[in-house]
Amino acid sequence: MKEDLLYHLWQYQKFAKHNLRTVQGDELRVFSAGHLNTLAGPDFAYSKIMLNDVTWSGSVEIHVNSSDWYRHKHHLDENYEKVILHVVWNNDKEVKLRDGSLLPVLELKNRVYPEILEKYEKMMGDNHDFTCRNLITKVPDIKLANAFESALNERLRTKASKVSEVYKSTNQFWEETAFKVICSAFGFKVNSGGFGILAEQLRYDILQKNRDQRLKIEALFFGLSGMIREKNKDEYSETMKRYFSFLDHKYSLGGSMMSERDWNFFGARPANFPTLRLAQLAGVVCKSQLFFDAILNSDSLKDYYAIFEFEISDYWKSHYDFGKKKKSATFSLSKASKENLIINSVIPILAAYAMEKDQHQYWEKAIDLLSSLSPERNSITKKWNAMGVELGSAFETQACLEQYKHHCLEKKCLSCSVGYHLLHSHSSIKGNLSEEIVKN
Ligand code: SF4
Repeated sequence: MKEDLLYHLWQYQKFAKHNLRTVQGDELRVFSAGHLNTLAGPDFAYSKIMLNDVTWSGSVEIHVNSSDWYRHKHHLDENYEKVILHVVWNNDKEVKLRDGSLLPVLELKNRVYPEILEKYEKMMGDNHDFTCRNLITKVPDIKLANAFESALNERLRTKASKVSEVYKSTNQFWEETAFKVICSAFGFKVNSGGFGILAEQLRYDILQKNRDQRLKIEALFFGLSGMIREKNKDEYSETMKRYFSFLDHKYSLGGSMMSERDWNFFGARPANFPTLRLAQLAGVVCKSQLFFDAILNSDSLKDYYAIFEFEISDYWKSHYDFGKKKKSATFSLSKASKENLIINSVIPILAAYAMEKDQHQYWEKAIDLLSSLSPERNSITKKWNAMGVELGSAFETQACLEQYKHHCLEKKCLSCSVGYHLLHSHSSIKGNLSEEIVKN
């Protein structure tokens, strides 16, 4: 028996209630299981029960064996004086509170349907990533939809918190925050580290003052990134050297802050080379738009795509790196790349704004936008597809990534609505737990 199953059984009151009594023989009724406490102190707070005719409000502590009370040294901790009920699997030792009174105990070992225990053992003993893989398509759609909705909200909160940290680092300036988040997202997967460092180092005031001069913005990006190499001698490279030297001197930048080691060229297709991505970012910046304003006020998917539409400078129309000519003339962002940028910058910014300003409509806007984007395709979404789960939008693919990483892999099936359904569906068909279990 594991404590997390006991938490689950108590939280959802999944045990036989017939002739419910404490081991001391007092009649017990549960009005409220209380709230699961993940911080220090007893496991459930604000619980409400009735013992004989007296109503009690307070905390509930859960243990496998009642003797764990002493093993965990709760008898020395005054936080545990407010415990009104000890819920245990096995009552192997009497527990006394400081005033000498006996702590009421509810023992569950004869009150839980064996099928639940068997299913739980199977779930937890399964080494596959998905314990529900053979049954997930038989679970009502609403269960998976609930699991995805809660995972998606979790994911958005995590992403929004990261944006809020950037917001604080910019002295609460949303436009600068939006630029930094967009800059980080331009690294995509291959160069997220490099673009993240660059986003932290770039001074927004310099961008603002020079955004109408494309070559200077490019020189600033390439210079700080450490990509302007002495060996490149073509006209464009010489211009970059000259402009960066000018900007470095004017704004006391301290030279290149990064080196080639910060960038990934190997393993990236030329279209993903950081040089080309930086040139594209320069194109986006030089549109002179207010990013945050556009993010907050755009109404259609077309408007959001437009944030990432730009004119690229002539050199990058024919090169993918300094001195290296490309065969194809592709230089704009693909639809998939624009959607990736929307998922990783626009949506977290909307969610962060909703959280910072307590304006739920922007959270809804983020969710609506995700729902209108195409589903992503990656190794994790393929795993869901292989189980027969169709993913119809980026809302679902983002949700399934979170669900997989933070629930399925961590075997948190008891807190997932799919896992809950699988654990209890058969026993709930049979009705409440049978009296026989109690008698045995
Ligand atoms: S957490 Fe939910 S979806 Fe994931 S494996 Fe467990 S039951 Fe299945």
